[in-house]
Amino acid sequence: MLKDLFKKQRKYATITMPSEQAKREIPEGIMQKCPKCGTIMYAKELEKNLKVCKACGYHFSMSAPERICATVDEGRFFEYDVDMLSEDPLGFPDYRKKLKSDMEKTNLNEAVVTGEGTIGGYPAVIGVMDSRFRMGSMGSVVGEKIARAAERAVTKRYPFILFSASGGARMQEGVLSLMQMAKTSAALERMHREKVLFISVLTNPTTGGVSASFASLGDINIAEPGALIGFAGRRVIEQTVRQKLPEDFQTAEFLLKHGQLDMVVPRTELREMLIRLLDLHSYGREHE
Ligand SMILES: [Zn+2]
Repeated sequence: MLKDLFKKQRKYATITMPSEQAKREIPEGIMQKCPKCGTIMYAKELEKNLKVCKACGYHFSMSAPERICATVDEGRFFEYDVDMLSEDPLGFPDYRKKLKSDMEKTNLNEAVVTGEGTIGGYPAVIGVMDSRFRMGSMGSVVGEKIARAAERAVTKRYPFILFSASGGARMQEGVLSLMQMAKTSAALERMHREKVLFISVLTNPTTGGVSASFASLGDINIAEPGALIGFAGRRVIEQTVRQKLPEDFQTAEFLLKHGQLDMVVPRTELREMLIRLLDLHSYGREHE
């Protein structure tokens, strides 16, 4: 039809050359751009390097399944409490809807995955938070799964390794979220009394109620380079203390310098480091 022809022509005529901005945008999925140094690399290459930028060492965030695959032997992992689902105890607007959409998006039931596997042949209970699910926030289910994982570690006398990535307590569960800080801390205290090793690995970001409870309670606290770790946000603290904070405040490196961490370990060396630590602690266990 004549009318269609005109339409098409007009469309054709308005095509403009792609702007510099658009040219620099990368087709999703194939290429990835480092947010720190701007290097563009193949997504597959990046995955092979455990999602660490080869140019500058920037650590991209990892999902829980990716982290588990990179940590346990041959990706073999037995998951605990798979069917534990969050309720909406306060009837918080849209909470159920948001949970459902995060479940679909991540293919996970909650913001933490717990279970067991072996690392370098050493059995361990492992927990991994996933920041894609409600920003890795801690509600009742996250707290319960972590507490149960700690209890299983005590029963089995396996070390417990927990990877944190969290925005803190989950506001949609109000005070029940805050109670998880006490519950997880109590479970870890039992581990401590039973002399079972707990290694906390803090990844970007570990903030709020999670940094203020189990993430900081490791017998050994390890962080990934550049990870943001802190309780309150920078602006809140600056307003409260009325002082400008140093540039590297709340980074893994800053915390290491000030004695709040034991180690900052690049992700590409992390598995080896965990194996070394498990090895060092297994001797004592066998000879108890
Ligand atoms: Zn980079």
